[in-house]
Amino acid sequence: MLVVQKYGGTSVGSIERIKEVAKRIAKRKKVGDDLVVVVSAMSGETNKLAELASQFSLNPNRREMDLLLSSGERVTSALLAIALSDMGYESIALSGRQAGIVTDGKHTKAKIEHIYTQAMKEKLKQGKIVVVAGFQGITHVGEVSTLGRGGSDLSAVAIAGALKADICEIYTDVDGIYTTDPRIEPKAKKLKEISYDEMLELASLGAKVLQARSVELAKKLNVNLVTRSSFNEDEGTYILKEEDIMEKALVSGIAIDKNQARVTLRGVSDKPGIAAEIFRKLSQEDVNVDMIIQNVGVDGSTNLGFTIPQNELEITDKAMRDIGASQSVEFDKNVVKVSVVGVGMKSHSGVACTAFDTLADENINIEMISTSEIKVSMIISEKYGELAVRALHDAYKLDN
Ligand code: ADP
Ligand code: ASP
Ligand code: MG
Repeated sequence: MLVVQKYGGTSVGSIERIKEVAKRIAKRKKVGDDLVVVVSAMSGETNKLAELASQFSLNPNRREMDLLLSSGERVTSALLAIALSDMGYESIALSGRQAGIVTDGKHTKAKIEHIYTQAMKEKLKQGKIVVVAGFQGITHVGEVSTLGRGGSDLSAVAIAGALKADICEIYTDVDGIYTTDPRIEPKAKKLKEISYDEMLELASLGAKVLQARSVELAKKLNVNLVTRSSFNEDEGTYILKEEDIMEKALVSGIAIDKNQARVTLRGVSDKPGIAAEIFRKLSQEDVNVDMIIQNVGVDGSTNLGFTIPQNELEITDKAMRDIGASQSVEFDKNVVKVSVVGVGMKSHSGVACTAFDTLADENINIEMISTSEIKVSMIISEKYGELAVRALHDAYKLDN
């Protein structure tokens, strides 16, 4: 069996932890499985590197950022391969480039375009455990690129897809996917299985346990995906096609995204084409705009509100000032997005209403709402974020 495993930051966060991971890998190798292991940087390392750059610039050159940020994963991949070799298991560490991972040129959020698998296949054939530095690749012109935060999940899924691995196991610091972040609601329940679509919504809406793009790719390439703890032997959560899920829950989880900022453009002229101009500019700048609200215009002018990730504030501010479509640009970082996700919503009404009632009972004001077939998202004040998560978790009886 060919297995791709990925170990996240906490799982390789210390010398002791790397030794534990090496033992787990060795055990699997002994059973006769072929292994490609993708690793993250040690926990906190990527933030530390970004923080170093921020000492020099608020908007550092993205090419240089990639060279800087990719170094964390190189460290852990080399250390893990050294640990394995020392235990008598032949292994080899590969950087993104050495593993053949080719991306587009969008520094700090590159997309994987192709994986040249020869190198990995050759090492596997020689019986070696292949350890790949996650989160990175190389552009067509030979520049180092990174795949966006949490991107080692994407490296693992893409490699599993390219090698047609039997399974892709994501090892992290929780036992699997829970009905909500167990750090916020200790009563959260571990799910045995979840559909790709629900997982994709949860991940896109803030549940960082899996990077959203990795789930999207897993669905597209039909990669068998399981999330497990690197700290115990529990079974974890399988991510499956919707039709393969036995029990379809009305609501499967609650997510919270604390990396949101609300932008208000005041005094936007109320005429055709203006929204197109604003959002075209933001899309050119690669800003991820989410919820949008346009107020009713008065005297030929209106206000436009939308949400963006907090780390795209500077770039949004500059873009809005450049086009000068509004009299003022205001930002509010003290907001969070709380979302209710479940495929059962497709065929049941009243799910959104329960969410609104629940927040009303807690006296929490909803500032923006958006819905899709399988989710309801609400922007609320940051200080009520975790309270809202617990109240919603209760309201949908997710603890039983
Ligand atoms: P890694 O470093 O292994 O990639 P992450 O920190 O990126 O791990 O993701 C794991 C974390 O995701 C958990 O520690 C947990 O707090 C958080 N999390 C958020 N939502 C959920 C959820 N629904 N189920 C499980 N974990 C969740
Ligand atoms: N080290 C990177 C990050 O912290 C990638 C990852 O851990 O998946 O975002
Ligand atoms: Mg992660």
